[in-house]
Amino acid sequence: MLLLEWQGRTVLEKMGIPVPPGDVARTPAEAKEIAQRVGQPVVLKAQVPVGGRGKAGGIRRAENPLQAEELARQMLGSKLKGLEVRELLVVEAVEVQAEHYLSITIDRARRAPVFIYSPQGGVDIEEVARQNPAAIAKVYLSPLEGPLAFRLRRLFALAPAVLRPALSQIATKLYETFTLYEANLVEINPLAQVGQGLVALDAKLILDDDHRPGEHFAGLAEAVTDPLEAEAKKAGMSYVRLDGDIAVLGNGAGLVMATLDLVVQAGGRPANFLDIGGGARADRVKKGLEIIARDGRAKALFVNVFGGITRCDEVARGIVDAHKDFPIPMVIRLVGTNEAEARKILAEAGLVGVETMEQGAAKAVALAQGALR
Ligand code: GDP
Ligand code: MN
Repeated sequence: MLLLEWQGRTVLEKMGIPVPPGDVARTPAEAKEIAQRVGQPVVLKAQVPVGGRGKAGGIRRAENPLQAEELARQMLGSKLKGLEVRELLVVEAVEVQAEHYLSITIDRARRAPVFIYSPQGGVDIEEVARQNPAAIAKVYLSPLEGPLAFRLRRLFALAPAVLRPALSQIATKLYETFTLYEANLVEINPLAQVGQGLVALDAKLILDDDHRPGEHFAGLAEAVTDPLEAEAKKAGMSYVRLDGDIAVLGNGAGLVMATLDLVVQAGGRPANFLDIGGGARADRVKKGLEIIARDGRAKALFVNVFGGITRCDEVARGIVDAHKDFPIPMVIRLVGTNEAEARKILAEAGLVGVETMEQGAAKAVALAQGALR
């Protein structure tokens, strides 16, 4: 669960990490009002869950409240990297002396939390990682010990000496945030040097989807990274965009993953992962097909359903409902509960299924490559 910057910032602030004064605005009037309250030049930041907003024009400076209102009018409703800007974070524009990078995440291979720090933070941190990896420090933590002082000293060996106490304090709070919020990532980039102090100018938090319930989660919501993925979720399905050209629809995460593997093995590349979930009825199948059609990148579709609590006849009905306007060829494999009935429903609509997953994958790949009609 990825949080928008303004939500992540609220969490950091609550945990005692310094952030510049400001608030979130949903209208130009609100932006003006916040700028008035701040009483200084402000920065308006588009609240879309993608990195690189700075370079894409999603971060603008306003010298006064009127200019903040005008900029907000331009930014709200515009698109940034394909996502609509509906909220702006309006914060005091601080004088930045240096930009640092600080994050904590989980290294799954090492089964340990890891702190990452660089005195060369900011929008080019990926470039620093490539060109000058020595400028980035990584320190692994024992989950039983937490951020012991000697580890923080090692983490901040690259930092200017005057900043080390403040950095250690923030790192400790970052660790508390990480554990209390059951996060997979808490990232501050840039953590800006302002005088002798530090202030978090950005906040990226990813919380575990399966975190335990708690008061502190109240009001936090997942940011919409992909409108189609969000729509699928609402309909009880799980849809993930991939970068190939063969759409896949199946039931159960395991079967869908296996189907993706088969597509790759047959020489193709999947365009998506779509799990319609257990016990899907015809309308959900239809909705799933609609989402694939709207995505519009695939050249062929492979439907692979194993009927257990999901009934094949329901799936077939959903397919028949959607198939007339469906823009690409379909390969269908339905086995299990009510399989015979499903075959009849498909046949009446002039559709024929394949017998095995391997055949299905091979046929879908051939169709996508234009080798079959
Ligand atoms: P991102 O590009 O999506 O990661 O957005 P950030 O919030 O990290 O902002 C990008 C860049 O904008 C930062 O690295 C800063 O250089 C700059 N920036 C953001 N807020 C301020 C601010 O209050 N003052 C100044 N001077 N620069 C800022
Ligand atoms: Mn950033």
